[in-house]
Amino acid sequence: MEAPATLDSLLRDLRIRLQDAGIENPGLEARMLLGTATGQDTAQLIAHGNDAVTAEQAARVDALCQRRCAGEPMAHILGRRSFWTLDLRVSPACLIPRPETELLVEQAVAVIKDLATDAPRVLDLGTGPGTIILALKSERPDIHAFASDRSHEALQQAQANAAELGLRVGLWQGDWLEALAPAAHFHVITCNPPYIAPDDPHLTRGDLRFEPRSALAAAAHGLADLYRVIDTALAHLNPGGWLLLEHGFDQGEAVRRRLEAAGYHGIRTIRDPADHERTTLATKPARPRG
Ligand code: GLN
Repeated sequence: MEAPATLDSLLRDLRIRLQDAGIENPGLEARMLLGTATGQDTAQLIAHGNDAVTAEQAARVDALCQRRCAGEPMAHILGRRSFWTLDLRVSPACLIPRPETELLVEQAVAVIKDLATDAPRVLDLGTGPGTIILALKSERPDIHAFASDRSHEALQQAQANAAELGLRVGLWQGDWLEALAPAAHFHVITCNPPYIAPDDPHLTRGDLRFEPRSALAAAAHGLADLYRVIDTALAHLNPGGWLLLEHGFDQGEAVRRRLEAAGYHGIRTIRDPADHERTTLATKPARPRG
């Protein structure tokens, strides 16, 4: 086959290949891949549609397109993913930021506002590439931001993102709240833990095949880490402080029940734009129960 001659014709060719591979947004992804291969943004691609493409550019975009057609996530191919107002670096070592997690960020921003505390201390557990904590710190530069992850590679990614965005976050390696000193207290604790059941067929589809299993799946039908965080976070919250959790669409009731049993108050669940229960928040009562 003759090599496509211009940016426009190459774009068409890419779109057809992606469409044939069953990609949902072939036009958008074709532009993103061509933009990455040529170093041009969408406006430039449109303005320069008739420009000739070099053999090197054509080869580069062909390689990217092949990876995408083989199912590799766009976020891994581009090495970046937009989340909130940020453009985050991502790697196969961490969970790819997802739009539904912006719901948790929205709720956390509202909770922080209502605290009316100077420089509240906010902790994100299992931060991955820093998704939640960097969004919060960008929104509220006055918070003291902390985050942990069990994975060293994930922390490196979070560190790189924090440095690139010029946001200060205290990071440390640890399994949920385990590495914390018993006296460490926070106004807000956020967490998007792994919550998919290990036998859920979704794990064998789409982007999930390429993400760390440890960031996706948890024992006890996906509830093990949620329960662990619920049970241990209370001791590290200030009275009146809030815990915000992301969970599976069918886990809202189990999460609410566990929070109640652990002694939290003000428990409420927020639905995502797909109308699924997705984020539950709860507060530590000002006076612990009897
Ligand atoms: N929401 C993600 C999904 O279902 C899972 C993320 C997670 O386990 N925290 O694809």
